[in-house]
Amino acid sequence: MTVHLSMRYECEVCGFPYIPYNETIVCPKCGKKGEVTEEYKTLINGICRSFVYNLDNFKGYIPAFWWCGDVSDNIQYTLFPVYEHCLKNHKEVLAEYKPIEFRKISDLYIDEKVNLADELLPVKKYLKQLSLDIYEKAFEIGFNLSLKKKFVKRNGELKTDNS
Ligand SMILES: [Zn+2]
Repeated sequence: MTVHLSMRYECEVCGFPYIPYNETIVCPKCGKKGEVTEEYKTLINGICRSFVYNLDNFKGYIPAFWWCGDVSDNIQYTLFPVYEHCLKNHKEVLAEYKPIEFRKISDLYIDEKVNLADELLPVKKYLKQLSLDIYEKAFEIGFNLSLKKKFVKRNGELKTDNS
């Protein structure tokens, strides 16, 4: 099993699929403001829940299998590797709240590794914001984004549980 959020939304003007998860979010393609609902506001929390599930069950952010049935699945599928990249190469930004460093790493990864057609390049801005919003929410709710079962914070240093 994996955590699917079953959310769908399409821009009223251009039909582009995305999720307007707060009042500041506009259509990544045409810039029209989306219709925010209570359900869409749960997107970030839902993705955090999915991250916890994957870390517990797959020892990383990328699940062993994934099925893209809607736009919220596609969003998760695009963001898993961003966080996996941090887990493998920049674990310090997951274990401690370092939003400036995280943003640089996340933005660069999305610029370089997420392949989109030229006309969809503005979508990267949306993905970058979403990646950062998830990061901030995770720390707000006290979820350690590094492999929480294996690593605990002791005296500001990262150590394994049995060290
Ligand atoms: Zn649009």
